[in-house]
Amino acid sequence: MLISVVIPCFNEAESLPLFIQRILPVMKKIDCPYELLFVDDGSNDETLAILKQMSRDNQNIFYLSFSRNFGKEAAMLAGMTNAKGEYVAVMDADLQDPPELLEEMFGILEKGNYDCVAAKRSNRKKEPVIRSLFAKSFYKMMNRISDEKIEDGARDFRMMKREMVDAILSMQEYNRFSKGIFSWVGFETFWLSYENVERANGKTKWSFWKLFQYGMDGLMNFSQTPLSVASWFGIFMTGISFLALMFIIIRKLLFGDPVAGWASTVCIIVFIGGLQLFCLGIIGQYIAKIYMETKKRPHFIISESNRDDMIKIK
Ligand code: UDP
Ligand code: MG
Repeated sequence: MLISVVIPCFNEAESLPLFIQRILPVMKKIDCPYELLFVDDGSNDETLAILKQMSRDNQNIFYLSFSRNFGKEAAMLAGMTNAKGEYVAVMDADLQDPPELLEEMFGILEKGNYDCVAAKRSNRKKEPVIRSLFAKSFYKMMNRISDEKIEDGARDFRMMKREMVDAILSMQEYNRFSKGIFSWVGFETFWLSYENVERANGKTKWSFWKLFQYGMDGLMNFSQTPLSVASWFGIFMTGISFLALMFIIIRKLLFGDPVAGWASTVCIIVFIGGLQLFCLGIIGQYIAKIYMETKKRPHFIISESNRDDMIKIK
């Protein structure tokens, strides 16, 4: 039985040698045929050169290189598309996903009760406080307003059986949010907790702002709740205006028509204008996503690989 390990790499030249040193003994211990499928996501450092060298030294190592940076989601998709194994694992190259866990994951899958073993961090130690705060609120909100449940601290690090990989590959959406996709396809998942580890080398590619946008995208990809915000505001405002109308009519009947100031009128106009723009903005975000989906652009373009049968564009 073949095990494929997909590893997205974007400027990981410093981490790759360490990564290889750690993962090779693990694969040896698992004692199954395997392939390490490195995806060079348009790196502009020595990553590709190192991958080429490594694949010459070890025939279990394959690489595919994107024509430019397409992002981690695309890299994972390209790797899974081209993985041939019965079991497919996905993990980072920076050693934040300890390779040693692969053995445990493999053992659990072999027992047969689960289709997927996923890793989650048991804590957020060593993470900036603000980032933890936002991350936690994100998971709370996501789990409240979307049908897909996402574990707090869940990583993309996991090993899956072929059926689950095929299910994931059958999802063709352009806007991909893996955490949601993994949960959407279902299957029995075993959660493996482990202590948070810091990156071995280099620095994270995620700025706070990028992470925030990623979270927002994820929310929108797996929930239509924000769209209904407009309707709720609408109903609420209609109720208020009805009450206000009653108030004005009664006051007119009882006290005649004393002229009130214009300030309140302006406030109301500005308030309602703001609400309308806010709701339009939400709708606009969804339309932008529909726009990208309808273009049907490929998720990735592979410019180079050491295996001829790679699916190069998808
Ligand atoms: N990565 C990628 N393309 C990108 C950004 C990141 O393939 O555009 C890879 C990166 O090389 C690493 C993994 O995705 O193997 C996770 O990236 P990073 O460590 O920066 O994220 P974090 O661990 O901080 O969430
Ligand atoms: Mg990392």
